Amino acid sequence: MDKKLQVEAIEQGTVIDHIPAGQGIKILRFLKLADASKRLTIGLNLPTKNDGAKDLIKVADTIFSEEQANQLALFAPTATINVIENYAVVRKFQVAQPKSIHGVFSCPNSNCITHSESVPSYFYVRQAHGQIKLKCHYCEKSFATSLFTELKD
Ligand SMILES: [Zn+2]
Repeated sequence: MDKKLQVEAIEQGTVIDHIPAGQGIKILRFLKLADASKRLTIGLNLPTKNDGAKDLIKVADTIFSEEQANQLALFAPTATINVIENYAVVRKFQVAQPKSIHGVFSCPNSNCITHSESVPSYFYVRQAHGQIKLKCHYCEKSFATSLFTELKD
């Protein structure tokens, strides 16, 4: 079995490219939380053309919607999404910072009403001092993306 080939090509799915080095693990964690059965391949600290480093994740058999792809912008604003079909890139786009995120994450505030009432979570995305924060619509608290360790069911 050619291991290299297995890492480098997927028949169909999504390649998340140009993830800032170090952020790949966070995206991996997020994707794993969202769906533990996803088949993922990750490359860390891959060299880029301009002597930098990047992370890259391949997700087999999964095509992200634009909304799903944009959630990744919380962790990697510069990421590009490559949609793969039959081993070829059929669509390529850059993730965009979403204005809000609905029903994805659980509010990190355990006293938030979203934990006792069955309402979908709702966060506004804010950027302050180069850091992305999510502000809960219900409890109005702001949180760094690193605090989002649970997804809402
Ligand atoms: Zn809240």
